[in-house]
Formats: sequence, C-alpha cells, structure tokens
Amino acid sequence: MTGRASARGSAFRPSREHRRIVFLTGAGLSARAGLPTFRGEDGLWAVHPELERAMHASALPDCIPDLWRVWPGMYAAAQRTGPTPGHRAIARMGAAVITQNVDGLHQTAGNRDVAELHGDAGRAACLGPDCTWSTKLAPGDGERAEDHGAPSLCPVCGAPTRPDVVLFDEMLPADALERAERLAREADLFVAVGTSGVVFPAAQLAPTARRAGARTVLIDVNPEDPVSARAQFDEVITGDAHDVLPQWERALNGVRSSTFLDPFD
Ligand SMILES: [Zn+2]
Repeated sequence: MTGRASARGSAFRPSREHRRIVFLTGAGLSARAGLPTFRGEDGLWAVHPELERAMHASALPDCIPDLWRVWPGMYAAAQRTGPTPGHRAIARMGAAVITQNVDGLHQTAGNRDVAELHGDAGRAACLGPDCTWSTKLAPGDGERAEDHGAPSLCPVCGAPTRPDVVLFDEMLPADALERAERLAREADLFVAVGTSGVVFPAAQLAPTARRAGARTVLIDVNPEDPVSARAQFDEVITGDAHDVLPQWERALNGVRSSTFLDPFD
C-alpha cells in the first residue's frame, strides 16, 4: 500500500526465463465482465436473496431450482460480455490457470489448461456423490434442468442433476484440486490475481509453489492484508490486473502481438 511497495512491485515483469507461469484467479478478474460478487450493494445476495440460502450444501436438494434459475444465466451473461483484458493477457502469455471462477472466461480467452476449483456454471453435474456424469448446458430461463438443455435426472444413475457449481460447505472437486496442486508445484512463476492472497486457496497454493522454487506474485488493486500477503508473496503489486497483465504480456511477447482490436483497450 505504501508508495515504496507499489514502486517496487510495479517494477516486476516476467521474463523469458519464466517458462511455466501459473495464475490463480478469482472473482476480481471477472468483475469487469459485469459479474456480481456475492456481497455488497449490487452483489448476488442483494439481487437474488433466495440464493444466499440456496448456495449452501445443507439446502440440497431443495435448492436445485434456485440454482438452475441463477447460474446458467450468469454463465451466459459472462460469455456474452466476453473475457476481460486480464483474461486475454493470461491466455496470450501461454500460462496455466487455477481459477475460483465458474464463468468459463479463461477457456473463451483461449486457455486450455484450466483447473476449476469451484466448478463450471456452464455445465450440469449429478447430485450422486460418486457419479461423474456431466454435460454442457445450453443456458435458457427457468428453474428446471430442461430449461437449460439438461435432463432433470442423471442418465447414468438416476439421481437429480444440478448446475456444476461448488456450494458453501461442499468439498472442492478432488480432480481440480489435485491438478491445482500439481500446477503450483511445477510453476516457476506463480501469480495470484483477483483473489485474496491470504486465505485458501492462495494461502495453500502460493507456499506450495514457493517451496518448489517458484517466484510468487500477488496483484491486487487494494490488498486487504498487505503485511500477511508479503509473508507469502515475493512481490505484492498494488494495481489493476487489466493494466498490469497486458503490460506483462507485451513485455514477454513483444509489441507486435499487442492487444489490437481489444474492445476493452
Ligand atoms: Zn449420476
């Protein structure tokens, strides 16, 4: 937060010696695409008050209609707006991504290697705890799976289906978590952006990456707890990811691949 820290942080740029860049991203990166956060005046809880109760594992299966009513529509809205300059820069750097976001914007920006810790609002999953059935949605309007192009009952095991979004008090998907841990161990540059740097998952993944030899960086417009963040991150950059990341991308890839025709620029 001090001028000195900011100047020190903003001087950091990735270089070609960083061959394995891994980003951990959260809601802050997608906010510019118009996606509401949970809390706050325009947050999800304010717009859809029924969702606050519905987003808890203890409310299953009764909350499934509420989940259908909100999540596929959120996914579709994000896709209509499209990836932000931050998403695009991450994809152009050829980085791998661990994300807490469920909007699919990293994939739309061109990232193939994405570990989705909180699921994917563009897919349906099965409520059966051991069933791995899942399908892509065609988001529409309504509180039934059929309104979004999915069956209400799992074609494999017959259990109810649901949007593939992790609820509060639910376990994170084991495969995504495993993939995230592996990406953190393999990183030589680990960057957290749009997510709190000091709670899970950053609090676990950043130290994992650092122990394995990565340089760790937090980019945050307004770091909540800069003292704790500096204990985990080699660099804390106080700045807007949509400014910082396109600069990084140009530094890595050269000016010729600059962000031409980018509607956000
Ligand atoms: Zn099933």
